[in-house]
Amino acid sequence: MKIQNYCRLAFAGITDNEKFVRSAVAAFCSSLNPTLEEINDIKTAVSEAITNSIVHGYGEEVGEIVIEVYLLSDCVEIKIIDNGCGFENIEKAMQPFYTSKPNDERSGMGFTIMQAFMDNVVVESKVGNGTMVTMQKRIYKVKC
Ligand code: ATP
Ligand code: MG
Repeated sequence: MKIQNYCRLAFAGITDNEKFVRSAVAAFCSSLNPTLEEINDIKTAVSEAITNSIVHGYGEEVGEIVIEVYLLSDCVEIKIIDNGCGFENIEKAMQPFYTSKPNDERSGMGFTIMQAFMDNVVVESKVGNGTMVTMQKRIYKVKC
């Protein structure tokens, strides 16, 4: 499908930036005329992916996170990319309630939430190299 517009944002992986970045993504998507519900779904999924990069990808360090947003005619595609530690078993990590940090009050629901709020979620990760989460959401045109 033809890309109509895109943006790429690189930012320091600290929790303080999360709110700004998810709002920036929401603002960028607004030209597709999403409903408030669609926008909130996107914001929630983006937050989960950013939190994962900060908490799991970089841990105690502050690393760079890149977010790319592609606007297609009736769909938005968002990539969240980190160069953190990566992880091995993607299938296992995506299972509901799986967390590698059970003592840190993590519930293991981040990927499940991303899948529930977006139409498609693909995770690529390599230990020592980092992680890229690609999510798509269809924006329905007929609202009346
Ligand atoms: P919650 O999101 O509910 O706080 P969680 O982050 O542990 O808990 P998920 O978001 O579903 O749960 O992630 C599952 C697991 O996948 C994590 O516990 C972690 O081991 C791994 N993981 C996810 N994203 C990354 C990442 N960017 N870098 C390294 N590991 C990751
Ligand atoms: Mg998580």
